Amino acid sequence: MGNHLFDAIRARSPAPERLLMETDDGRRISYGAAFDSAARIAATLVALGVELGDRVAVQVEKGPEAILLYLACIRTGAVFLPLNTAYTTAELDYFFTDAEPRLVIVDPARAEAIEPLARKVGARLETLGADGDGSLLAKAGTQTGEVAVAPRGADDLAAILYTSGTTGRSKGAMLTHGNLVSNALALVEAWRFTADDVLIHALPIFHTHGLFVATHVVLFSGGSMLFERKFDPKRIIAALPRATALMGVPTFYVRLLQHPELDRERARSIRLFVSGSAPLLAETHAVWRERTGHAILERYGMTETNMNTSNPYDGERRAGTVGFALPGTEVRITEPEGGRPLGPGKIGMIEVRGPNVFSGYWRMPEKTAAEFRPDGFFITGDLGLIDADGYVQIVGRGKDLIIAGGYNIYPKEIESEIDALPGVVESAVIGVPHPDLGEGVVAVVVRDGRNDVSAEAILGALTERLARFKLPRHIDFVDELPRNTMGKVQKNVLRDRYRSVFA
Ligand code: ATP
Ligand code: MG
Repeated sequence: MGNHLFDAIRARSPAPERLLMETDDGRRISYGAAFDSAARIAATLVALGVELGDRVAVQVEKGPEAILLYLACIRTGAVFLPLNTAYTTAELDYFFTDAEPRLVIVDPARAEAIEPLARKVGARLETLGADGDGSLLAKAGTQTGEVAVAPRGADDLAAILYTSGTTGRSKGAMLTHGNLVSNALALVEAWRFTADDVLIHALPIFHTHGLFVATHVVLFSGGSMLFERKFDPKRIIAALPRATALMGVPTFYVRLLQHPELDRERARSIRLFVSGSAPLLAETHAVWRERTGHAILERYGMTETNMNTSNPYDGERRAGTVGFALPGTEVRITEPEGGRPLGPGKIGMIEVRGPNVFSGYWRMPEKTAAEFRPDGFFITGDLGLIDADGYVQIVGRGKDLIIAGGYNIYPKEIESEIDALPGVVESAVIGVPHPDLGEGVVAVVVRDGRNDVSAEAILGALTERLARFKLPRHIDFVDELPRNTMGKVQKNVLRDRYRSVFA
C-alpha cells in the first residue's frame, strides 16, 4: 500500500531543482529541497513518538516550514491539525482536549504559556517560528536516516480542520486522503493549473483556503508560489507582474482596488483571479473587471467539503453566483425540513455529495449523522438556489434566515438592495428578538465617506422595491462590519450588539 496523498503529490512534482516557493524575504525553496526537509521533519516526528493516525496540532505563524511540516505529517501518516494563530490559550485548551494530539507545535514565543495545556492532554510540545527557528527544525537538522513513507489509503485521515466558528463553536472536520486528492485534481483541471503557473499565496495556512485550495493547486500541478506571510496590498501589487494567478478572500480584492497602481498593465501576466470563503459583492466584481480587464472567478467551498462549485474557466463568470458543481461533485437544493429536492430558481438548502465531502465531525457522531441525508448528501447549512442556467447562487446561511411574523426573510435580498444604493459600501441584515414579530429586521450599513445617505433615504428606496414585511425596522450606520480572519462578516457579533433594540 502506498500513501494516497503523499504519493499523488510526489507523482506530480516536477524536476527537483524546480522552484516550489519563494518567500517574501527572498528565500527560494525547490521541490527537491522541500521533499528533503519534509523527510527530515517526518523522521523527527517519528522519533518524537508520532504514530499512524496521531494528531499533530500546529499553531504557528505562517512560514514555508509550516507547509513542509504539513507534508511531513502526511508522509508519516499523522493527522495534521492546524489552528488559527488568533486562538487564545483558553481556546487552545478546548481544541487540545477535543483532539487529544500526540504532539503540539507552537510558536517559540508562546511555548511557555501553552506547555501546561499540552502536558494536560499528554502531548509533547515542540516549537517552530516563522523563520524556521525553534526546537522542531533544530531536531530535524541533526536527523540522520530516512523513515519509510507511511502506508495510507484514500479513506485514512489526513487532517482535521476546525471550521471558522462563524455560526457557533468550531467543529473538527475529518478530511481523508481521498477527499484532498480528489478535490485538488478537480481544481487543477477546472482552473487549468500547470507547471508554468506562479501563484501569489497570501492567505493564512490554518484554513482550507490557504492550506488546501491554494497550496494543493500548486503542488498538484508542479507550479510555484510567491509565498507572502501576510496580505500586504502594496507587496501583492508589486508581485503581480511576476505571477500568473492570485487567490484570495473578497477583502483582498476590495483592498487592492484602493491602490491606484492597480491597472490592466499591472495585471497583464495574470491569467486567473479567484475569490472565495465569503461572498464577493457584484460591485467589486464589476469594478475589478473595469480596472484590470479580468473577471474574478468566484467559487464556493467549506472546511467540511473542500470546494464544491466554481464559476467556469471558459464561459461567463457570473457575478453574485458561485458557478457550477465541480467535476465529480453533485449539488442540489432541497426543502430544508423534509429534504425534498427543489427545482430551478427555488431557494432551499444547498446539499452536496462527492469524493470531496468529509467523513464526519471529530468525536461528534450525532452531529455528523444529523448533517447527512440517508442518500449521502451533506447538508451544508447554506441556503441558495440554482438558476435556470445552472449557476448556483448562495443567499445566505440557514442560521441567518430571519423569521419575522411568520415570514421567511433572506438577509441577502435586502443587503443587495441596500448595497446598490448610492453612497452605500456594504451592509449586513440580521434578525434580533422582537416582542410581536418573533424577530425584527435590523440593517447595519457602511457608507462611503463622501455620501451621507440617511436611514430615511434607505427606507424610502427600499419601500419601492421590497415587500413591507422585509423592511428593516432599525437601521444603524457603522464604519466597518465585524469580520474574522477569513473576511467573513460575523453576524453573531452583530446579533449580540443589537440584541435589545426592540426590547
Ligand atoms: P462555522 O461552520 O464554524 O460556523 P464557517 O462556516 O464560516 O464557520 P468555513 O468552513 O471556513 O467555516 O466556511 C464555509 C462557509 O463559508 C460556507 O458554508 C459559506 O457559508 C461561506 N462561503 C464560502 N465561499 C463562499 C462564497 N463564494 N460566497 C458566499 N459564501 C461563501
Ligand atoms: Mg460552516
